[in-house]
Amino acid sequence: MFYLSVKNHNSVWRDFLLWSKTYTDMLTKDIFNDTETAFAIKSDADLEKAYWLFSIIKSEPLVKLGTAVTNFALKYHLPVEGIIRTTVFEHFCGGIDEQDAMRIVEKLYSKGVYSILDYSVEGAQNEESFDQTYRKTLDLIKLASKRKEIPFSVFKPTGMGSYEIYKKVSQGDPLDAAEQQAWDRIRQRYYNLMKAAKDYNVPVMVDAEEYAMQKAVDDLMEELMREFNRDKVFVITTLQMYRKDRLPYLREMLDRAKTEGYKIGIKFVRGAYMEKERERAKRKGYPSPICETKEKTDENYNNAIRLMMDNVEHGLIYNGTHNEDSSILMAQLIDEKGYKRNDPRLWFGQLYGMSDHITFNLAKRGFNTSKYIPFGPVKYVMPYLIRRAEENTSVAGQTHRELELLEKERKRRKLD
Ligand SMILES: Cc1cc2nc3c(=O)[nH]c(=O)nc-3n(C[C@H](O)[C@H](O)[C@H](O)COP(=O)(O)OP(=O)(O)OC[C@H]3O[C@@H](n4cnc5c(N)ncnc54)[C@H](O)[C@@H]3O)c2cc1C
Repeated sequence: MFYLSVKNHNSVWRDFLLWSKTYTDMLTKDIFNDTETAFAIKSDADLEKAYWLFSIIKSEPLVKLGTAVTNFALKYHLPVEGIIRTTVFEHFCGGIDEQDAMRIVEKLYSKGVYSILDYSVEGAQNEESFDQTYRKTLDLIKLASKRKEIPFSVFKPTGMGSYEIYKKVSQGDPLDAAEQQAWDRIRQRYYNLMKAAKDYNVPVMVDAEEYAMQKAVDDLMEELMREFNRDKVFVITTLQMYRKDRLPYLREMLDRAKTEGYKIGIKFVRGAYMEKERERAKRKGYPSPICETKEKTDENYNNAIRLMMDNVEHGLIYNGTHNEDSSILMAQLIDEKGYKRNDPRLWFGQLYGMSDHITFNLAKRGFNTSKYIPFGPVKYVMPYLIRRAEENTSVAGQTHRELELLEKERKRRKLD
């Protein structure tokens, strides 16, 4: 009796301590204001350069002009690679090849941040180039299997096959014999890579691109999850939550996985092709697949995170965002629900060169946090770099915030 009452007393006390710990330590967005942690790996010179770069990127006319001049210069082999390399390239990319990128990988890991090497060569859409990207991705899976700093591999659908084939399959259009063979080769490349993911114990993410080609990717990814994600997640698909239909799709996917006994790996992003999608829908005369407002996209995104956080035992969540609210939301849910902050099923990710205040402050507090690190020869990663520059121009708030944080850190270091 006495024992029981002591036990009860102890467990009540323990619950109280747990409860009070959750609430006194409850994370808020204030953690993202710690610029000392955010920029710890940046030297004073790096900091100044980043400040200068974002000040330029902020200006839409300058980005437009810069893009046009760069494209022209590259096309006519004018010597601009050097200047690109020491400016935008150095800021947003890990290097020209994986060896080069390892310097960054190790630097990030010294602060508890993981890396995902993203071979960002957006080359010619032909079989030779698809095979080359396929081989490179396979090599990267093998490399990751030997490096604790690299938990995942990644590839883009259009790295493995042509947009036109994905689009035809997505629309249910008939394929002629050559197209059918091309589609079979795409399927085979995905299959081999996911098999390697399992054999080498390195889960692989597949990015999401344009709406018109996504249905083919979705169906293939579900097929592969069914095959490879029985006990653990090796296959990770991407959901762009700016799409109106993605939350219902996530619910259906989850139901199918539960019924058939496999797990789903999801990388959540808002989506990078908004203007293009809206414009295409208008041109082709179908309703835009994109949410009407930013608020609706945010609501979709956060509801998807909540839904998966209620179903952690059924999958893996990769929260790919620079949005502070969506990042803190998941961090709070991890604590509230009592998951370990470094639970291998729960991940955060930002792009290299952006939102260090989120990455490094979450990593400091023990969450699994990673950077997507694009790499490749300067000339071939230009489309990626242009997208980043344009994104930072159009998402005005984001650049403004980067500048504000860099300014704060410059003041703290007494650089201005
Ligand atoms: C690790 C990582 C991986 C990524 N992988 C992919 C990928 O595979 N595929 C892909 O498409 N993108 C990818 N992205 C980019 C991503 O989709 C976003 O473009 C980018 O991260 C900005 O969104 P946010 O959540 O960070 O921030 P926020 O600044 O909060 O949101 C900006 C985004 O909100 C949406 N939005 C803005 N205005 C409106 C509006 N008026 N109406 C409706 N929606 C609006 C757009 O999607 C816009 O990009 C990735 C990003 C990260 C960090």
